Amino acid sequence: MQYSLTDAPMDIVGIGIGPANLSLAALLKRHPQIRSRFFDRRAEFQWHAGLMLPNASLQVPFLKDLVSLVDPTNDLSFLQFLAVQKRLLCFINASFPQVLRREFNQYYRWACEQLSTLRFGSEVQAVDVDGDMIVVQGDGWRHTTRHLVLGTGQQPSVPDCAKPWLGETMLHASQYLIHNNPIEGKRVVVVGGGQTGAEVFQHLIADSDGMPASVTWVTRRSNFAPLDESSFTNELYTPGYTNYFYDLPEARRTMLLSEQKLASDGVSAALLGAIYRRVYELRYVAGLPGDLQMRPARELVGVTRRGDCWVLTLQHTQRDMQEVLEADIVVLCTGYAYGMPKCLAPIAGRIDRQGDGFVVNPDYSIRWDGPRGSRIYVQNAAKDQRGIADPNLGLVPWRCAQIINSVAERALYDIDEPAPFIHWDTQAVAVQNGAQGMEFMS
Ligand SMILES: Cc1cc2nc3c(=O)[nH]c(=O)nc-3n(C[C@H](O)[C@H](O)[C@H](O)COP(=O)(O)OP(=O)(O)OC[C@H]3O[C@@H](n4cnc5c(N)ncnc54)[C@H](O)[C@@H]3O)c2cc1C
Repeated sequence: MQYSLTDAPMDIVGIGIGPANLSLAALLKRHPQIRSRFFDRRAEFQWHAGLMLPNASLQVPFLKDLVSLVDPTNDLSFLQFLAVQKRLLCFINASFPQVLRREFNQYYRWACEQLSTLRFGSEVQAVDVDGDMIVVQGDGWRHTTRHLVLGTGQQPSVPDCAKPWLGETMLHASQYLIHNNPIEGKRVVVVGGGQTGAEVFQHLIADSDGMPASVTWVTRRSNFAPLDESSFTNELYTPGYTNYFYDLPEARRTMLLSEQKLASDGVSAALLGAIYRRVYELRYVAGLPGDLQMRPARELVGVTRRGDCWVLTLQHTQRDMQEVLEADIVVLCTGYAYGMPKCLAPIAGRIDRQGDGFVVNPDYSIRWDGPRGSRIYVQNAAKDQRGIADPNLGLVPWRCAQIINSVAERALYDIDEPAPFIHWDTQAVAVQNGAQGMEFMS
């Protein structure tokens, strides 16, 4: 096939335009001397369209937008979007406890319109090396670039027993609104006790007309537990903590990730309250037919088909017992995991791996045997090395600022950490405060 070399060589090519690379593109708008292009296979920006439920809200404050954390006067901030749309005062008056995800999607789409460096409908099919440059190829096009930034997001995780059956009525939550199954009179099972499971459960029981015959919400967790959003827990979402975490031994990091599960994967307390009240209302006030069950401490371990229905085997995690459940529709809210993008296949042998992941340097570049001075940076691919903040929106602009500083080889952004409230690292206390710090501790 003949490829056309579309443009002059770039300094940065970004693969994927989700919030992570969109933040990078937004910050780079102020630095046109760094030539960049971003590609996404989708025809247009859509933020997790299959889960854009009407009432779903952001799990971070809106100040954690594309730019504000490192560049609060940037004209691609959420506040600027509100002002340009002439809704700033109404937004203030509305006093949303959390911004609707649909509104943040509007904001992201508006930001896309302001950026000339984005190319939608352009899947990157292969990445290779040509001389001292990286080559990125799509269908009939090719770009050369000094550096690459992977922002390809995470892929749906599905329990092994459900994988052979995936389709319209045995679906991962990412497909929930895409399949849009009729639910009236159906037996629906929701698997997964995190935020997505809660949002889907709430959606299934929201409309009193056309209720399912039954909705059963199953989770491996020992209860339907809230997200810990307290101030000290939110310190886990700071540059200081993520840098501290990065320097810990691997076994400690693994232990901490499991200990911190509810700081990242819990359900927002407001949503849990709303679900509880709705179940109460349906059961005691509206008296609507329909069986609503919540079953914690159950793991989905088997799926078979009997006639038109699914037969699910659930292992009780606290008793040595199994339950069998029939369902017409099963929604697997079983999370996401990072996987190496397929387009890296031509250079996969040149990339150092650690388990399933990359070996990530402090500037978010990965270790690989590429041309001298050419780096591959990763977004949302280093949870095991950077902690629970990595796949979250909270530190995205800070991570992008690190990447920009690294590419520019000078500090275009001041990302020095503020003095921490929590001194995670004993060494930092001893070095920074010297004898005074030791005196205070004794
Ligand atoms: C429903 C949902 C709600 C969430 N809400 C929050 C929240 O409120 N707060 C929070 O902090 N976090 C939230 N998260 C977690 C996280 O912030 C989001 O998943 C976020 O979208 C991650 O951004 P990303 O840019 O890394 O990846 P994605 O948004 O997944 O974007 C990746 C993009 O890469 C493209 N792509 C992949 N491969 C290629 C290729 N070869 N060529 C071209 N394009 C490619 C895809 O088409 C996609 O558009 C949420 C996650 C989900 C699933």
